Amino acid sequence: MNAVEVLKTYFGYDAFRKGQEEIIGAILSGRDALAVMPTGAGKSICYQVPALLLPGITLVISPLISLMQDQVKSLNAAGIHAAYINSSLTEAQIAKALRLAVQGTYKIIYVAPERLESAGFMEFALQGAISMVTVDEAHCISQWGQDFRPSYLKIVDFIENLPNRPIVSAFTATATEEVKNDIECVLKLDHPDTVVTGFDRENLYYSVEYFAGGQKDAFVEDYIDKHSNESGIIYCATRKNVDALYEKLSGRGVPVTRYHAGIDNETRKRNQEDFIYDRKPVVVATNAFGMGIDKSNVRYVIHYNMPQSMENYYQEAGRAGRDGGNSQCILLFSLQDIMINKYLLARKEFDGMEAENIELVKQRDAQRLQAMEGYCKTTSCLRYYILAYFGEKTKGSCDNCGNCHRVYSEVDMTADAKWVINCIAEARGRYGLNIILGTLLGANRARLKEVGATAYKSYGVLSHRSEKDIRLLVDQMLMDGYIIQTQEEYSVLRLGDIQRLRDENTRVLVRKSVESESKAKSSRSNSKKTDSLTRAGYELFDKLRKLRLAIAKEEALPPYIIFNDRTLIDMCVKMPVNKQEMLNVSGVGENKFSRYGQRFLEQVKEFMAENPG
Ligand code: ADP
Repeated sequence: MNAVEVLKTYFGYDAFRKGQEEIIGAILSGRDALAVMPTGAGKSICYQVPALLLPGITLVISPLISLMQDQVKSLNAAGIHAAYINSSLTEAQIAKALRLAVQGTYKIIYVAPERLESAGFMEFALQGAISMVTVDEAHCISQWGQDFRPSYLKIVDFIENLPNRPIVSAFTATATEEVKNDIECVLKLDHPDTVVTGFDRENLYYSVEYFAGGQKDAFVEDYIDKHSNESGIIYCATRKNVDALYEKLSGRGVPVTRYHAGIDNETRKRNQEDFIYDRKPVVVATNAFGMGIDKSNVRYVIHYNMPQSMENYYQEAGRAGRDGGNSQCILLFSLQDIMINKYLLARKEFDGMEAENIELVKQRDAQRLQAMEGYCKTTSCLRYYILAYFGEKTKGSCDNCGNCHRVYSEVDMTADAKWVINCIAEARGRYGLNIILGTLLGANRARLKEVGATAYKSYGVLSHRSEKDIRLLVDQMLMDGYIIQTQEEYSVLRLGDIQRLRDENTRVLVRKSVESESKAKSSRSNSKKTDSLTRAGYELFDKLRKLRLAIAKEEALPPYIIFNDRTLIDMCVKMPVNKQEMLNVSGVGENKFSRYGQRFLEQVKEFMAENPG
């Protein structure tokens, strides 16, 4: 068999995607390889296909247990002998797996990096013929990365201790130049063939929604109501946020679960499975959730808070739309998020890192946070902001993101800005936003009398404006640095650098989005991937989905491991009635056909009989 035949027979796909062919070719010619590809691009195929063609065993080093289990289930479902060795197994199970491995039972073995040091594993590695070592999530080797794992540094010792140096291939979705160099150097890759595919994921629609006050909950509730049949992830910055939002959503009857490091292992595992198996298609989580989650039908990822870096954002948002279907990545931004992140970064721990590096990493963290802020505040194309950040050249705008579709009107609020400054000056930096807003609006509140604000010159001067407008103005002034919000528990407003405002030509421009227009466009671009189906096709899709769920339950597998949504949609389009036609459906290989093909064929035939024509 050659590579294309392996792809068709085992995985049911007709052709390689961009980048896959080159990487596979390099590996099969005996070269080391480094592939930087975005999530969902199909990295696994790049080492799984050569693994089947190389004479010996391929070891895949992977940081996460859930990822390994998922991959092994998928491979087994495709008829490929694979196993994993990690701490979820008992010693006896590990011994048995290693025995079978030495006998050559498995073509692919997934292993956690910590395991490489164990005597039992080394003993196997010295006996079993290892053709290739694949390092998945290879950016974990970089001390500059967000996901540095000291145990990854042991990989190279392990490789050097093997009797014959295997081919080494490394895969990551993190694209920065420094991480790429780190991988190449630390892993000692030997003249690797390096493939970096484009980072654009056309099926993802990015948008940033700006919140001056605290209406994020209402946004999320409304969004979920409008997308009730879809699976989604909502990321929050803190456990407290996760719990609060989770309670709120489940109180409204949303089929939702939650995930963060404060939940005990057992429950966390159950929650994760509820999500993966679509028993609870919505999850509220901290960034502890998701690495290694392969769920292909996630239709939206909402960030309730701004993440700490573009790397994190790209990775987390990228969990949407792995199946290639249109999906939304929405970031809910408020200025508060910047403070939360600064606080979290200040408390970050640096396990396993040398002291002199810590300062450097801190600086980089601050730079990363700044770039992330830039994404939230930019009014130009979001997709191109991301691509430019990862070093891709871009021109113009994508016409397919929230900013490209948003229509802004710019309002000159310079005069109002001066009143805000007067008011903060009169308050002598003692009060927070609520009192300042109330004063400017001329609110009739006891508290304002109490602090003497009703006697200020600025009291009521902006009563002709809406509270929302003044909030937008204050936010703009915070962004411009004219005023400062302190970060203590009781945060107050103080004057910042107001010199520039003395210049007559300086303007304070507040951008207001014209809501109706942007909403209309974004919902249009959110056309479902199932739009290609006719109404009858959609009915069949629904039937096939139910059949898939039934089989998934019988086999205790996540539904998408049986067939993913794209495969089901392709079935609805091609309406196969015999084996040959079924094998033409994208994602149906020989093994999956022999396991499930007949039942799906019957369902299609039954549907055709019920709906003649
Ligand atoms: P990554 O690890 O890069 O995030 P995966 O390996 O999980 O991506 O692949 C994402 C999806 O794309 C999977 O459902 C996979 O089966 C599918 N896929 C990979 N290669 C191909 C291909 N050549 N043709 C069609 N689908 C593919």
